[in-house]
Amino acid sequence: MAVLVTGGAGYIGSHTAVALHDAGHEVVIVDNFANSSPRAVDAVRALTGGALSFVEADLLDEAAVRGIFEQHEISEVVHFAAHKAVAESVQEPSRYYRNNLGSLLGVLEAMLEHGVDKLVHSSSCTVYGQPAVLPVAESAPVGAASPYGWTKLMCEQIITDVCAVRPLAAVMLRYFNPVGAHPSATLGEDPNDIPNNLVPLVMQVAGGRRERLAVFGDDYDTADGSGVRDYVHVVDLAEAHVAALEVLAAGHDGAAAVNVGTGSGSSVLEVIEAARRATGRPIPYEIVGRRPGDIAKTWAATDLAREFLGWQAKLDIDDMMRDHWRWHSQNPDGYGR
Ligand code: UDP
Repeated sequence: MAVLVTGGAGYIGSHTAVALHDAGHEVVIVDNFANSSPRAVDAVRALTGGALSFVEADLLDEAAVRGIFEQHEISEVVHFAAHKAVAESVQEPSRYYRNNLGSLLGVLEAMLEHGVDKLVHSSSCTVYGQPAVLPVAESAPVGAASPYGWTKLMCEQIITDVCAVRPLAAVMLRYFNPVGAHPSATLGEDPNDIPNNLVPLVMQVAGGRRERLAVFGDDYDTADGSGVRDYVHVVDLAEAHVAALEVLAAGHDGAAAVNVGTGSGSSVLEVIEAARRATGRPIPYEIVGRRPGDIAKTWAATDLAREFLGWQAKLDIDDMMRDHWRWHSQNPDGYGR
């Protein structure tokens, strides 16, 4: 029996495929390389001693998805495959809705047809917007500020509705800000075009590819005025998926949304400081205006992750910067797409 990892060539998916293998699971990856590289699959294969099945397919292709379930003995699914660029989703909403909702629906329907009843789903802390109360708990009000955010919320709703009436149990992991890389430096984040996220940009400045970082605002209601996020090491995040599958295997019923963060926030300026320590590079920056749509601060309540999943983050911001830098400095062009 195998775990199907959709989007398993992606940043979080590839790290999770390795973690699942290390925990004793058989793994089947499906990916269409829409935003990932075949070299990530090679890297997962190298880290897992070759024990990996891979299928290149688009999850919108119903026949291909059915084929995966016919050809492999799938017992559980970890569903990552989705478009994830917020700004792009504003420009191309219908493409985002079609891809992110359609992929989930295709996978869900194939699961139900084949009696596969355990799902771990990638969700996001974006569903909280700017929380009124911090740390933000899973019971906080949810909403969305972009088509991307809506797809995350709608996917949670679809899964919840299906779990209510069909033999399906699901854990929906609401990721905070994933950073870092596998300690081997053979797996990491490989943003195409110009990265949008803070840490990949910081690493490009450290590596000399970019002259300075633009810090988007120093007038937020935070200790140093810059935005605060709960950064979580991708290796810890991968382990949360293993823990979620264990909870499902133990017979948990229904659909549960669970935060995956460290429980503490770092400001942009603190991230720059941590990156300076990890890289030994100066990392020049300038303060510019706020980025439209940004929230001031968020960090996760981690009680449910601890109590329900038995999971908590082990790695801190210094570990994240060290591992992200090792990956970036050894692979400045990522997988070299
Ligand atoms: N940020 C920044 N400069 C950049 C990119 C991001 O100051 O070039 C800030 C951003 O305003 C936010 C934090 O870094 O406070 C994290 O941004 P990211 O896009 O990585 O994550 P998100 O905003 O989606 O949580």
